[in-house]
Amino acid sequence: TERTLVLVKPDGVSRGLTGAILARVEAKGYRLAALEQLTPGRELLAEHYAEHEGKPFYEPLLEFMASGPVVAAIFEGERVIEAFRSLAGATDPTVAAPGTIRGDFGRDWGLKVQQNLVHGSDSPESAEREIAIWFSA
Ligand code: ATP
Repeated sequence: TERTLVLVKPDGVSRGLTGAILARVEAKGYRLAALEQLTPGRELLAEHYAEHEGKPFYEPLLEFMASGPVVAAIFEGERVIEAFRSLAGATDPTVAAPGTIRGDFGRDWGLKVQQNLVHGSDSPESAEREIAIWFSA
């Protein structure tokens, strides 16, 4: 079966939304296969966000992601990658559709779009790459 890496970013964890976010994914019918909480170091984040290196939001994004605990989860199920991205909603929480995680719980925008609560892998290849980064042990 397909797997995806879901991250509850530091804003989601510090606001106490971890349970509510994971519950939506479980309630839709996907299996929680692994779960951990950690404050990621710079090296881990540089690997995870390698494709964004050099972009104007890269440094603030890494700083934000290292600012506190992140919850990393592996969810399993047919087409879970697509399904989670649909549950998460558009990158910009201000305009993300109501009913989505970002649409219901977020309202940051501009450079603060980094505070958009969650991350989900965008392809089977990136899911396996990202799972290896976050669940190396
Ligand atoms: P994610 O990969 O986190 O699910 P996404 O695929 O919707 O989000 P990407 O374009 O891959 O968005 O960007 C990765 C992350 O970088 C975003 O989730 C957001 O936190 C941050 N980001 C993207 N664009 C910007 C921007 N213009 N300004 C600030 N942060 C940004």
